[in-house]
Amino acid sequence: MKNMDEIVNYCKENGFAFPGSLIYGGLANAWDYGPLGVELKNNIQKAWWKKFVQESEYNIGLDSAILMNPQVWVASGHVGGFSDPLMDCKDCQTRHRADHLIEDATNVNPAGWSFAKMEAYIKENNITCPKCGSTNFSEIKEFQLMFKTQQGVISGEGSDIYLRPETAQGIFVNFKNVVRSSRAKMPLGIAQVGKAFRNEITPGNFIFRTREFEQMELEFFCKPDTANEWYNYWKKYCMDWLLNYGMNSEYLCFRDHEPDELSHYSAMTADIEFKFPFGQSELWGIANRTDYDLKAHMKVSKEDLSYFDAYTNEKYVPYVIEPSLGLNRVLLAFLCNSLVNIEGRGDVLMIHPDLAPLKIAILPLQKQQIDLAHDVFKKISKYYMATFESSGNIGKRYKRQDLIGTPYCVTIDFDSLEDNMVTVRDRNTTEQLRIKIDDLLEYFSDKFEL
Ligand code: ATP
Repeated sequence: MKNMDEIVNYCKENGFAFPGSLIYGGLANAWDYGPLGVELKNNIQKAWWKKFVQESEYNIGLDSAILMNPQVWVASGHVGGFSDPLMDCKDCQTRHRADHLIEDATNVNPAGWSFAKMEAYIKENNITCPKCGSTNFSEIKEFQLMFKTQQGVISGEGSDIYLRPETAQGIFVNFKNVVRSSRAKMPLGIAQVGKAFRNEITPGNFIFRTREFEQMELEFFCKPDTANEWYNYWKKYCMDWLLNYGMNSEYLCFRDHEPDELSHYSAMTADIEFKFPFGQSELWGIANRTDYDLKAHMKVSKEDLSYFDAYTNEKYVPYVIEPSLGLNRVLLAFLCNSLVNIEGRGDVLMIHPDLAPLKIAILPLQKQQIDLAHDVFKKISKYYMATFESSGNIGKRYKRQDLIGTPYCVTIDFDSLEDNMVTVRDRNTTEQLRIKIDDLLEYFSDKFEL
C-alpha cells in the first residue's frame, strides 16, 4: 500500500482533492474535491444508496436539513453534558482531555464528575503531562464539539443554532412523518447522506478526519427483541458491500467496542476497521442505539414516537441499529486499497468499474480522426462518464487513464474512418478488442451497474 504522502500527492496531482482555500494560504484540514474526486465521491454515494435503499426491501431515503431546532441537540445529549473537558499543559503547550489523563494514569473512570472534582483529583494524584512530565496544567475548559452560529440577519440578535454533528438526529425527528406518509411497517430503515460538522480536537490524516465531512447513515428501526439479530444482519451487509466493491479482505476487520468504550446511547457497537497507511482505524461504526434516541426526543418534544403494530396489537418504542459510514473516509480507503504499482505499467488505480471516476476515454490517434472521435464521445457520454483526449502519444495516454482508473479506452485510428471500427482496451488486462462503433453501447452494457 502507498504511504499517506504518496496518496495525498496523487490526489493533488490528479485532481481528486486540493487543500481548501489554497490561494489564501489554505484553511487547516479543509479539502476541496476536484474533477475526479467529485465523480468518485458521487459514485460511492450512488453505490451505497443502491445497496442500502434501492435493493433493500426495508429501507427508504430521507434528506433532512442541516440546521435544526436547537432542542434537538438538547434531547440528543450533544448540548449540555457531552462536551469534552480539555486542559492545556502550560510547559509544552499540548492539549489533553482531563478524563483521559485520569483514566490513563489511575484506571479510574471519571464519567459524571464535575470539572472541579477532576482538577482536584489530577492535583492530588500528581498526574503529569504525558508529553513532558509537567504538572503545570491550565484549568479545565469545556470543549464544544458542535459549530455554533446564529439564525437571523442581524449579527448578535439571532438565536443560537448549530451545524449538525451527525445526520442521524434528522432521521429520528422525522420518524413519525416517514412512518405515517409511507405507511411503512416495522422493521423499517431510513437512510440519508449529508454533511456533518464537528469541531474535532485532532483533525488530520488528510480527509480521514476533518471538521466538515459527509456521512452515509442508516437508522434501522425494529422490534426491541429482534435488535440483536438485525445488528448482526447489518454488520454482515456492510462488510459485504465493501468486499463487493473490491476492498481487499486483508485490510478489513471487525472490532467490538469494550463495555467502557461504548457511547452513552449504545448497547453494542462494532467498528469495521481499515488498515490505513497510518494505522488500523475506524471506517464504519455499527451500533445498537436501543430506544435511547426516540425516548429522548419523546421526553423533550412531548410527542409520542412509539409505533403501533396493527397486526399484533402491540405498541412499542423501536430499537435502532445504526450503520454509520463517513463518505470521505471510505473514499480514502478505496484509494488506498486500489492504487497499486504494476510491474511494467507503473501506478494503476484498480478501482471497481462502478466507482471509477471516468468510465471510458475516447482517444483519437491523429488529427484526421477527431471528428469521428467527437461523434463517438457524443454517443457514449449520454450513458457513461467519458473523457476525450487527443494529445500525446497513445502509450502515455493509456498510462494516464490507468493512473486515474478509467476501465476502458476507445482508440480511433486511421482504419476507423474506413471500417467504422475502434479498439477497446481493458484497464485490468490491457487486452485490446476491435469493435464496430455501432456495437459499442451493446459492448459496454454489461460492464457497469450504476
Ligand atoms: P472517530 O472515533 O473516528 O472519531 P466516531 O466514532 O466519533 O469516529 P461516529 O460518530 O460513529 O464516529 O461517526 C460515524 C462515521 O462517520 C465514522 O465511522 C467515520 O467514518 C465518519 N466520521 C466521523 N467523524 C469524522 C470526521 N471528523 N471526519 C471524517 N469522517 C468522520
